[in-house]
Amino acid sequence: MEIKSKLVQFITWAKSTTHEYSRVQGEATMETLRRFRAAAAFLVALHLGLAIWFDRYVAPENRPEMVLWSESLAKVQIGSALMVLLFAAVSHRFLKRSNRASYAAIAMQVLMCAGYIGVGLILTVIDMKAGAGAGTASFMLISILIGVVSLMRPGISVPLYGFSYIAFLLMMANAGFDSSNLPGLMILGLAVPLLAVFASTMIWHQYAKNVVLRRQLSRTNGILMERHKEMEYQAEHDALTGLYNRREFMRLAEMELERAIKMASHTCVIMVDVDYFKKINDNYGHPTGDEVLLQLSAILKSGVRTNDVVARMGGEEFIILLSNTPPQGAVALAEKLRKALYSAPMMIGDVAIPLTASFGVSGYAEKQQGSIELLYAAADKALYTAKNSGRNRVEYAPPNMS
Ligand code: GH3
Ligand code: MG
Ligand code: MG
Repeated sequence: MEIKSKLVQFITWAKSTTHEYSRVQGEATMETLRRFRAAAAFLVALHLGLAIWFDRYVAPENRPEMVLWSESLAKVQIGSALMVLLFAAVSHRFLKRSNRASYAAIAMQVLMCAGYIGVGLILTVIDMKAGAGAGTASFMLISILIGVVSLMRPGISVPLYGFSYIAFLLMMANAGFDSSNLPGLMILGLAVPLLAVFASTMIWHQYAKNVVLRRQLSRTNGILMERHKEMEYQAEHDALTGLYNRREFMRLAEMELERAIKMASHTCVIMVDVDYFKKINDNYGHPTGDEVLLQLSAILKSGVRTNDVVARMGGEEFIILLSNTPPQGAVALAEKLRKALYSAPMMIGDVAIPLTASFGVSGYAEKQQGSIELLYAAADKALYTAKNSGRNRVEYAPPNMS
């Protein structure tokens, strides 16, 4: 039972890891193509250098087979240089076309690796035929190098090295070597794919772990950024109406006043307070009162210019900041809003609710300099007058500059 549950746990872990890792392969392939493109110039120079060296090689008098050996190797080196050029050009095209790997790009990566391992195999056969002493060194070296440089998940590297070992066996069997040597070669050659898979898997595991962690980090970062934006919005807006709240209004108004002083323009505010709002709550219930406030905020917003600031100061009290507007203009606008409310009852569902509001207006003339607090206090005073003079009215009070 214990073992079974452990096994299930392991399988689940392996499945999710395989899934996560297979999603990493695309990025790994692009990184591999990038590495290959970057190394191409060096590789071409290396192959050509070796080609020249083998071409100039003078075989010892007693080893005539070394002449064929060096000639063959020179040819293989030139062929390798051409192969690298071709692969680099194709890699460059893949990298230019997109940041994400397609299946074609992954196939290209495997092809490149297979091509290079093939070169290692050919070099090994040439070495062994000439008895050059290098044995399986080329096959071993290139296989391990590919395992280190090319980022491949085990699902790719294991078949790749498996096939390369089969190719090795076929080449050994058909190269015409003394058949008594074959069992030894088979075992010696087996070390190559095993070591290569080991190196490749270790490096892949590190790489994939990094990518997965980086992706998790970027996801968390995105969530945090979104939260931050949400909180910023909440800090500046009223939850019910979505209008600016008092604090944000004060901040925006201060900015606007600074601008108005520089540009020598007028700034006005209109305070709006619903008349007998408490009765609406009492008669129709709090939710209906909320609905009234929502509709009122929409009426206020649609009644002003888009760059005017409309805010809810609290309860059923609103404020409007009008830039570039002289006091007569602000009073006229307040009058227009008052009439709009008064002329028709507000419809909340099928219920018609008659609604009026009182308005207090104040403003700075073009060259007047004063604080938003003074302006607010004056508008509040005007609103008080409107309430005391019977409500459903607009009153104006200048800011107290003394
Ligand atoms: P006045 O004409 O003097 O302004 O009378 P009023 O009833 O409008 O003024 P008062 O300040 O006495 O009452 C305001 C009411 O607004 C009291 C409070 O319950 C209600 N109120 C405040 N905030 C909200 C809200 O978010 N939703 C609802 N539905 N009611 C609110
Ligand atoms: Mg009121
Ligand atoms: Mg009030």
